[in-house]
This record gives sequence, structure tokens and C-alpha cells, in this order.
Amino acid sequence: MMNPDLVPDNDYLLLTPGPLSTSKRVRAAMLQDWCTWDDSYNQLTQQVRSRLVELAGSDEYVAVPMQGSGSFVVESLLGSVVGPDHALLVLANGAYGRRIGQICQVLGISHHMVDVGDVGVVDAEVAHRGLAEFPQATHVAVVHCETTTGVLNPLDEVAPVVTASGRKLLVDAMSSFGGVPIDLAGLGIDHLVSSANKCIQGVPGFGFVLSRRTELEQVQHAPRSLALDLVGQWRAMEQGEGKWRFTSPTHVVHAFAEALTELAEEGGVEARHDRLARNQVTLVEGLAALGLHPVVERRFQSPVITAFRYPEGPFDFAALYQGLKREGFVIYPGKVSQLVTFRVGTIGDVQPADIDRLCAAFARLRHW
Ligand SMILES: *Cc1c(COP(=O)(O)O)cnc(C)c1O
Repeated sequence: MMNPDLVPDNDYLLLTPGPLSTSKRVRAAMLQDWCTWDDSYNQLTQQVRSRLVELAGSDEYVAVPMQGSGSFVVESLLGSVVGPDHALLVLANGAYGRRIGQICQVLGISHHMVDVGDVGVVDAEVAHRGLAEFPQATHVAVVHCETTTGVLNPLDEVAPVVTASGRKLLVDAMSSFGGVPIDLAGLGIDHLVSSANKCIQGVPGFGFVLSRRTELEQVQHAPRSLALDLVGQWRAMEQGEGKWRFTSPTHVVHAFAEALTELAEEGGVEARHDRLARNQVTLVEGLAALGLHPVVERRFQSPVITAFRYPEGPFDFAALYQGLKREGFVIYPGKVSQLVTFRVGTIGDVQPADIDRLCAAFARLRHW
């Protein structure tokens, strides 16, 4: 075995859900510089956009990439489609749902939060309750995979409640799209947000919105931000055939195109989901043998990230983290407010065999 001290700092497997471990081939796609205005670059952007629409599974949708991290894109969506005469109901069960509320606060968007807590689940009952509490809602936002805990909120329960009530449905599928099948048209999703550096396994630098074309066409163009103007970006891309407004993340887009090819070669979203699910089961079984157990009930557990309760008695997370890092793995501290947890991501260029090696490293480092 390689002496862990010789493993350079950047040579670890990122078991964190974004940025995550990308393949060599995705990283290699960035080893060139490109002009942001060049035709062939714009064509690449158009290809990426249409491949995203293919992943959405219906040509009722358009893909609008936006520079920045995932939150920039959520902010751009909210600030662009929830107008001054609208009101947003936010159904939250973690930090990312709460962030939607924070964005509304900063942008002055009329909103109401229903927060069921980090260990809660956003289901049909929560959606009904939210609509009863905030009947003026014109739009409803929900996080699909709440990365705080790894809960996969049952969209198939929530979406029909929202759409039957005539409200627009906005989904933060940041950490699920591309790795968990989502039937956008079947669920009646109006807008879905995701980013380059999660299940599609690209590097960070931009995100994208998949919007029903008719929805974007209807939006009253009154952006709350110039740079994060989603409708402006969409129009510029349509008119300029793939031209981004302002400097675009050229390297990131090239890496993303490669990542989309890699996803297709893996067999598409279903096949990727199977691998992620195998990773997650391997992780839970491996750590259960060491007395470490997940916070989330199995039926709501996503294959993306798993939050584990600290074991009884002394548990030195900092020492464990450093030890794992020396062995070539980086995991996440917890983010659950009511519980002490740590988290392990199972997305990225990661195989069940890597998870077996991780569990073996946990066993060697056992300080508890
Ligand atoms: C990663 C993530 C985001 C965006 O976070 P950034 O740090 O801005 O990229 C938003 N929502 C969810 C559910 C996420 O997992």
C-alpha cells in the first residue's frame, strides 16, 4: 500500500456531494483555453443545452445555463420568475430549503416557509398544510434531495398536490438531477435547478435551470438582478445561438460536455442511479458493522449522501477526518441542527470498491 503521507493533498477521493470526484477524462477536457465568443464554443454550449433537455425527457423544456454555484442559479430563478405580484410557498426540511427562504428575504419576494425540521420529510401532507397556511401562494418551491441529511423528498407525492392546486412548481434538484430519475413533464415541474458539479460529475462553475418553455415565455421581464437575470440569459442564448452574457466558464463547460458523454456511456441516469445506490448500500452496511448508523429512514434515504449519527461515547470527528484524509478520503461534517452527525457522499466518480476501501479505513481509524 502507498504510504499515505506521500499522497498529495489534492489526491484524495472527495466523498462530498459537490465539488465531488471527477474522472481524469473530465479534468483532462479542461487542458486548453477557449474564446468565450467563438462559434465552436457557442455550438458546444448549444449541444450541452440540448443534451440537458434530453435528460429532462421532454422537449417542452429549455435549458438555461447560468454562471456561478448552485445557489446563484436558485437565486436567479427566484428573482426572475417569482414576480412582484406573486408569492412563494417554501416547503423546507434542511439548510437548502431554508436558503430559498433567505434568498426571498434578500430579494424582497413575498414568501412563507413551512419548515418540518431536518429530520422531517416534505410529503403530500406538508404540501397541503402549506397551501392551507398560505393560500395566496402562486408558486411552490421544494428541494428534491435535501443534501443536509440525504433525505429524498417524495416528489411524486408533493408535485400532484401543487399542480392540482394550480400553483407553479419549482424544484431544487441540485444534488439529484442526473443521478436520480425525475420525470419532469409527468410531475408537472415548471422549473428545475441543478448544477454542473453534482450528479452529472462535472466541475464547479455553473448551474442550469430546466424550465417549461411556455413558463419562461410568460414571465414578465423585470429582473431583480442584472447578472442573475435568467430570462435575459435565456434570450441572449437563443438569439446568440449559445452566446453567454458576460464571461462564461469555458473550461467548466468543456468538462461538463465530457461529463455528459460519460453519463451516456455509463448507460444514462438509471444506470448511474444503480451505481450510486450500490455505493450507498455498501457504505451503510460497512459502517453498520462498526456501529455507525444513518439518521434517515431507509425509505427516504437518497443514494447521494448519508448522514450518520455520532456513536455513543467519545468520538473524535476531527481525528477521524484527518486520518481518513491521510488515507485518501475526504468526508463531510454534519449539518443537521438537532443532531450531531457526519456525512459521507456517494456521488461522483466513485465505485462500490472505493466505498469498501473507505470502510476498511474507518475500521483502522476506529477511535471510539
Ligand atoms: C449543492 C446544493 C445547492 C447549491 O449549493 P452551492 O454551494 O451554491 O453550490 C443547493 N441546493 C442543494 C440541495 C444542494 O445540494
